[in-house]
Amino acid sequence: MHAATRTAIFRRLKAANPTPTTELLHDSPFELLVAVMLSAHTTDKSVNAATRTLFPVANTPAAIAALGVEGVKPYIRNVGLYNTKAKNLIGLAQQILTLHGGAVPGNREALEALPGVGRKTASIILNMVFGEAEIAVDTHIFRVANRTGLAPGRTPLEVEAGLQANTPAAYRKDAHHWLLLHGRYVCTARSPACPTCIIRDLCEYPDKTQPKAPPGRRGKLAQAIRRGGRKRARA
Ligand code: SF4
Repeated sequence: MHAATRTAIFRRLKAANPTPTTELLHDSPFELLVAVMLSAHTTDKSVNAATRTLFPVANTPAAIAALGVEGVKPYIRNVGLYNTKAKNLIGLAQQILTLHGGAVPGNREALEALPGVGRKTASIILNMVFGEAEIAVDTHIFRVANRTGLAPGRTPLEVEAGLQANTPAAYRKDAHHWLLLHGRYVCTARSPACPTCIIRDLCEYPDKTQPKAPPGRRGKLAQAIRRGGRKRARA
């Protein structure tokens, strides 16, 4: 993809959403870390439902550690893989207390050493809490980067490397959120909304979805019959 096209894509994404952010509810770096860790293989909606009940009770490493594995499970039962995540959550809280004085660490090595924290979660924390221009690649970003041609790659790591190398510096800090939200709401896995996509003319995906054809004579007749049926039902 040409550098000018790349810039134009991000310029449009920025114009549509100048200050993108996560949809995970949080009020502190530790809450964000917990929410991102819980969000692996599950939806932000189910994580938010869980943390809405968990955080008022325990939102610090000490309070979470005090709950213990069995104590934290009832709060996160609606989150996928909650048994494993409960163990990781307690381990993570304990490790932050013992090794980092209760504060979320600000370097990748320390973050990835926390139970349940992988490269993607570490990148999000480094980006959102510590202001680093990391681009975490999740399933949405992997798809959008490949379809558009922004950063084709066979693995998330390849895509991340492509995005890091080629995203214009001015857009790198927010690229993760723009691409994630675009993938979640527009460039969806099963039926991307290409006809209304704001970067349609810049995107290199060869199989773009087409606008729905206006109904032909038969379709119009069927619509008229349906409308007539509804009117009769209301009368
Ligand atoms: S045009 Fe279609 S494939 Fe390309 S980014 Fe937009 S929704 Fe995705």
